[in-house]
This record gives sequence, structure tokens and C-alpha cells, in this order.
Amino acid sequence: MESIFTYFETIPAAHRAILLVGGIMFFWLLEGTLPLFKFSYKKWKHAWPNLFFTLTTIIINFGLAFLLLKSTDWVAAHNFGIINWLPEIPLWLYVTLGVLLLDFFGAYLAHFVEHKVPSLWKVHIVHHSDHHVDITTGNRHHPIESVIRFSFTILGVLVVGTPIAIVFLYQFLSVIFTQLTHANIKMPRKLDKLLSYIFVSPDMHKVHHHYVLPYTDSNYGNIFSIWDRLFGTYMELDRDNIVYGVDVFPDAIANGKISELLKQPFKKYQKPTAKF
Ligand SMILES: [Zn+2]
Repeated sequence: MESIFTYFETIPAAHRAILLVGGIMFFWLLEGTLPLFKFSYKKWKHAWPNLFFTLTTIIINFGLAFLLLKSTDWVAAHNFGIINWLPEIPLWLYVTLGVLLLDFFGAYLAHFVEHKVPSLWKVHIVHHSDHHVDITTGNRHHPIESVIRFSFTILGVLVVGTPIAIVFLYQFLSVIFTQLTHANIKMPRKLDKLLSYIFVSPDMHKVHHHYVLPYTDSNYGNIFSIWDRLFGTYMELDRDNIVYGVDVFPDAIANGKISELLKQPFKKYQKPTAKF
């Protein structure tokens, strides 16, 4: 565990880049051989806006990285945050708790708030308005959303008190899970179900991309499914019944245009068609 901790403390930027790009390539190929849905779409044409938003997310995270480092330095210097206030615990438990709680504050909470506050939902719609969820959808986030999510990560670091090694480990796992849960791949149902007891499984996250409530407002989790199970936001819907998109933005052509997607947060709020 100590060597893992040390590795992530100084993980080379190249390793992070290889994980992101290699992961996209790996799942892209897997989608060709083992697809969940047989989409009749032009894969590259569909990918282009999503890759654009992946790039803006990377640029924003890179540009703001100094704030993350400042936050981790501050909590370490002041011994601040939940995991530092606990009595002496083994390193593996310290790391596990750090990742678990960072997943709550930095991802689950951020995502939940984005769905519940109308002005933030209009920003987050860009992620949901993809009619063909695949490996490229994972980081399809409006630049404003990238800033919102980054702010929640900082909040998580401050509240949880995570050192930089745990933040980098968390981000590493987060990339893997974002790719696994969005990729258009068919995982055996039983394995998917088994995985979903602790982790967010591919089918579990696909339910969140169903076009209509109450499913859109469920399964907010990023790495661990336990937050959804704990707070009652866990839902199931058979993969055969899933229809991707957002009920109030059904225009597939507009939803594939970068210029339209960039304007999305400034459009008028529209009430969902179904309310439960
Ligand atoms: Zn969402």
C-alpha cells in the first residue's frame, strides 16, 4: 500500500494521459466487437463534439490544478479534514476512506446538485443530450460544468482532508469508471448486477441516461454505488428499455453541434415532461 501511495504522490503526467487516451482507444475497439446497442451512427461524427468537450475539460482541470495543489498542501499543513481527525488507522483504511469520501463530495454531491438546481441542470444537460452514449460521452461536459465539478473536488479535498496522493488515486479510478460506465459495451447481466452492489456498473449508469424522469434523477454515483443505495437514489431499468437523451431536448441534430451545446446553459429552462 505504501508503494501505491508513493506512486500516486508523484504520478507522471504521461501516465495520466496514457490512461485517458489508451482507455478511450481500448473501449472504442471493444464497442466494435461487443456493443450493448447496435447504433446506426457515424462513430467519428458523433465523437467529434464529445472529444472537443473532453479537451476543454482537460484544459480547465490543467489550468486550475494549482488550486488543487494549494488545497492539499493546506490540509496537510493544518492536519485538517475528516480523515485526519480520526484516531490512528492503518494506511489502507486511510486511503480507502479518502477515496470513498472524495467520491461523495467531488462526484455524487456535485452531480446531485446539478440535477436539482435548474440553472445548473441547464449546464449539465450537455452531458445528457447525447443520443448515443458511448466511450466518448464520458467527458462530454460544458466548460462551466468542468469548473463546477472542479469546485466540488476542492470542497471534497478540504472537507475530507485528502493528501495529493489520494486525490491522484481517486482521479485515476474516476477516469477508469467514467470510461467503463459510459462505453457502449455489453457486460454479462449477472456480472453487472454483482458489480453494482459496491461499484457503479455500466448498466446502472446507463439508467441515469434514460431520457425521462424519474430515471434521469437516479444513479448519480461515479465510482461507488453505495452513495445511491444509502441516499435512496438507486434505480433499476432493464437495458432493453433504455432510451438515451433528454425529453425536453429531442433535436438530435442540434444536440450534436458544438455551437448549440455551448449555448445550452443560456437557454430557457424547460420543465421535464414527467414528474413523479
Ligand atoms: Zn447526470
